[in-house]
Amino acid sequence: MATKKATRTAKKKPQYQRVLLKISGEGLCRKGETGIDGTALRAIAKEIMSVREIGVEVAVVVGGGNFLRGATIASEARIQEATAHYMGMLATVINALALQDVLEDMGQPVRVQSSIAIHSACENFIRRRCIRHLEKGRVVILAAGTGRPFVTTDTAAALGAVEIGADVLCKATKVDGVYTADPVKDAGAKLLAKLDYNEVIDKRLKVMDVSAIDMCQQHGVPILVFNLMETGNMRKAVLGQKVGTLIGD
Ligand code: UDP
Repeated sequence: MATKKATRTAKKKPQYQRVLLKISGEGLCRKGETGIDGTALRAIAKEIMSVREIGVEVAVVVGGGNFLRGATIASEARIQEATAHYMGMLATVINALALQDVLEDMGQPVRVQSSIAIHSACENFIRRRCIRHLEKGRVVILAAGTGRPFVTTDTAAALGAVEIGADVLCKATKVDGVYTADPVKDAGAKLLAKLDYNEVIDKRLKVMDVSAIDMCQQHGVPILVFNLMETGNMRKAVLGQKVGTLIGD
């Protein structure tokens, strides 16, 4: 028999029907390490499942920073910067394939769509096809960023959110949201519940790339910055409950 609490939650209607979740690569590995950690991966998959269970459509943009970032590898090794960015995009495909299998193991149908054609491993990104998958209840993992160098997966997430008509861009972070100062360095830093796009851009708050914020502002896509490492936060986020920092007008 369902508990009272479970029944109450199930009855609540999600505030957002279609979400685009941006996960950084570092969310997939252990702190200070590289590669993929199974425990971290499963924790993220469970959070995604928690909103699929209440019918929310989920597209995911994964980063690749747990393997490499273009700008860093280009300066460290003598690799042309553009090439290094393509390497970074390929790293996101590795993460996408890993997340796909873990979600499928939990019973969730998934498709990976890549902005760089990799026919043997995943589909190409095709907007209308992506939307159809979402409507059918599949999670779509958008890999390889924008498919072009010199930008990041934050930009890909903003573009993707606008393109598929997401109601919100959920930006997963390791901290609880946007603070008045760096909470790691300043004990007095306060979590901001709400911000407008201009404040984030003008104050150069390190939330996402400015181009990504600008894209969301122009198309009226709210951004919710929240801690995905905390169990239950993803569901709270889509139910419109108090979690993280909401950036809008
Ligand atoms: N990247 C790129 N174009 C894109 C998205 C990503 O060139 O549209 C490259 C870029 O080098 C970036 C790397 O892929 O550093 C990994 O992505 P990102 O740094 O955004 O990953 P995250 O920090 O989210 O893990």
